Amino acid sequence: MTTGHNLDAELVPVTAATRAELARADVHSAHNYSPLPVVIESGSGAWVRGIDGVDYLDVLAGYSALNFGHAHPELVEIAREQIGRLTLTSRAFQHDRFAQFCADVARLCRKDAVLPMNTGAEAVETALKLARKWGYDVKGVPHDRAEIITCSGNFHGRTIGVVGFSSDPDARDGFGPFPPGFPSVEYGSVDAVADATTENTVAILVEPIQGEAGVLVPPDGYLAGVRRLCDARGILMLADEIQSGLGRTGETFACDHEGVVPDVYILGKALGGGLVPVSAVVADRDVMDVIHPGQHGSTFGGNALACAVGSGVVRLLETGDYQRRSRELGRHLHALLAELPGDCVAEVRGRGLWAGVQLASGQPSARVICERLLARRVLAKDAHEGTIRIAPPLVISREDVTWAVEKLAEALAE
Ligand code: PLP
Repeated sequence: MTTGHNLDAELVPVTAATRAELARADVHSAHNYSPLPVVIESGSGAWVRGIDGVDYLDVLAGYSALNFGHAHPELVEIAREQIGRLTLTSRAFQHDRFAQFCADVARLCRKDAVLPMNTGAEAVETALKLARKWGYDVKGVPHDRAEIITCSGNFHGRTIGVVGFSSDPDARDGFGPFPPGFPSVEYGSVDAVADATTENTVAILVEPIQGEAGVLVPPDGYLAGVRRLCDARGILMLADEIQSGLGRTGETFACDHEGVVPDVYILGKALGGGLVPVSAVVADRDVMDVIHPGQHGSTFGGNALACAVGSGVVRLLETGDYQRRSRELGRHLHALLAELPGDCVAEVRGRGLWAGVQLASGQPSARVICERLLARRVLAKDAHEGTIRIAPPLVISREDVTWAVEKLAEALAE
């Protein structure tokens, strides 16, 4: 399952078996997603196979959780060995994978200490708690007055705390009341951050590139400007690299493009290699050590299986191969996307092997284009505001990148 190059011109229909399986899921599942009509049974590298027997090229990669592709052989081997030996002890007892995982992730981030969690949203919540506690214990902000600046258009997950500062009505409406203390400012403007800071500001939470908002790359100098402002005003910079980090943009972290080191990295998605949920908050001791026993934790956070796989992921990243692939194939991808007709595509944004293709006004919705892509055996996903998001596994071949963009051109022309 490594190539799509029995490149038929025929469109793949949605089969009766696929429709039946989707209908079956509808009966007993919550209806909180509206998936494209495909049911996947297996995957390898950048390709997956549906129950219809058709191979599809995955250019979403689990929203970057599958940076290393489906069933990466080294990671699968690590997981297999670990599952048979030890998976979970809870953090009540130490296990023999924990120290190594923390050392590996700390080294990757060039930071002192790691607090492991499971999902991205949990890691964001953890970082917010850490920043508030730092604000009270170190900065001396009065009790319960801490403010954390957030950015318009953000996506940091689905918890009550996090959707409370979302600007997306679908994410927020009907879920209040929300915790106070999270003023929102325009994304991409250092001045807006400066204007919003008060003596109670403890941190700014920022995505170095906003993924869910449609792969929005901030203006050059934005991250460096935020870093300088944080230094000048004694504010922590919390970088949510859950989607942008771990090779996606052609560097280990998207912040690296501006030579910026945040005070706190928030990691998730690809840290679990697409095998298990692994997230982490990473900081230096002066920040991390404000958290003491009993103040934060998670039954599954830092479990043995997660740690073994997470350490494997760090080893893959330390080869530099995935970052290089993202850079090189990203150049190829963006060169091809730039050729798409201007009456269909208003703008292409992104960095490395990550692109948001903004459809021109008057075009069908991004969802419709994704359905046309599905019929052409390419799995992509719409993001907000008429954007098709392209973020294939970093193991994708150059030929498959070319093929995917050809299919996109066909879908746009249909
Ligand atoms: N932060 C960012 C930047 C994300 O893109 C996401 C998920 O898309 C999250 C946080 C939430 O991660 P999770 O879905 O694992 O909770």
